[in-house]
Amino acid sequence: MKILIIGGGPAGSTAARFLAKKHDVTLIQDKIWDKPCGGGVKAWIFDEFDLDKNLIKHLLDKVYMVYKNKKIKIPLKDKNLAIVKRMEFDEHLRSLAQKAGAKLIYGKFKKFENKKALIEINKEKFLFEYDILIAADGVNSSVRKALNLPSIPKTITHYTKTDKYKTKECEFFFDKELGGNYYGWAFPHENLSHIGSVDAKSFENLCKYLNIDTKVKGYFIPTWQENITIQKDNIYFVGDAAAQVMPLSFEGIYYAIKSAEILTNSIINNLNYKEEWNKKYLKDFKFMKFLENLNKTPLRSLVVKAHKFNFVKNLSINLWLKSRS
Ligand SMILES: Cc1cc2nc3c(=O)[nH]c(=O)nc-3n(C[C@H](O)[C@H](O)[C@H](O)COP(=O)(O)OP(=O)(O)OC[C@H]3O[C@@H](n4cnc5c(N)ncnc54)[C@H](O)[C@@H]3O)c2cc1C
Repeated sequence: MKILIIGGGPAGSTAARFLAKKHDVTLIQDKIWDKPCGGGVKAWIFDEFDLDKNLIKHLLDKVYMVYKNKKIKIPLKDKNLAIVKRMEFDEHLRSLAQKAGAKLIYGKFKKFENKKALIEINKEKFLFEYDILIAADGVNSSVRKALNLPSIPKTITHYTKTDKYKTKECEFFFDKELGGNYYGWAFPHENLSHIGSVDAKSFENLCKYLNIDTKVKGYFIPTWQENITIQKDNIYFVGDAAAQVMPLSFEGIYYAIKSAEILTNSIINNLNYKEEWNKKYLKDFKFMKFLENLNKTPLRSLVVKAHKFNFVKNLSINLWLKSRS
């Protein structure tokens, strides 16, 4: 079968890697870039997917919740949180897809023409045939647009990489002024820190709070909802292009890779992709959506403060770790 995959981020590269063992796979990636991202990923994914551990820049055994100037330490079981540099990480995933037999082409999906995909490569246009097309082209999916599907629900995030604030751990800021309706974050990134928050005002406040003066950048992140179309005939959506980002935590790398695994198993074994995804993740995503909504209410302060109790810390950690399988 001819499978064309648009987008060579974590979702598309993983799908290409697994499908190339059985099918004729072409992976289209528009550019080499450092995707705006904190780069935090569950560390066990390196063993689970046989990834190169040299890509891990930091391996953390705790995170901090910051609220009302107080820092609450949340120990993780073992060193469970890895920080990667997205440019290197994504290139590695694409190279694994190539090793498995996928053809990697740097080009850009433009539109559909006579049931073929029009790809621009070095300013020239080519039509690609396919039996199956996988759209792994991120939050602004142009495949979705070309099919006139509603765009992915999303929110803008504001972030920067700076050397003006140093942290060795992941810090999450839960005051409304610093984190808006979600949270602000500071992650270590080699000799820099990745600082961010969702809305512009809370980002500005976070920068003031951390005493940094920096240039802000913005990028969208999906806000998952249950009713998003993830398949239309022989076209499948995965990763950010299917909004498969965990509500509240905004963890997207792990779920892009795991969702690509579910998709490839569904294609290879002729199973219903949506049903398989729902079986594995719907309950967790719905529960986290509930917590995300709770976080927007005054109950947020109670939930954050409760983290000084060990049983609440353990509950949070288990929630974060439970999707391992
Ligand atoms: C500021 C910020 C911080 C984040 N921090 C974290 C974090 O710490 N941990 C975490 O787990 N998640 C984080 N996320 C979310 C995470 O970045 C995404 O969920 C993840 O990248 C999704 O992977 P993907 O492969 O689905 O999409 P992407 O990584 O977006 O990959 C899609 C790829 O498709 C390519 N593409 C797009 N259009 C076309 C086209 N027309 N033709 C060809 N190629 C195309 C793009 O160049 C891109 O490389 C963060 C997101 C943001 C915005």
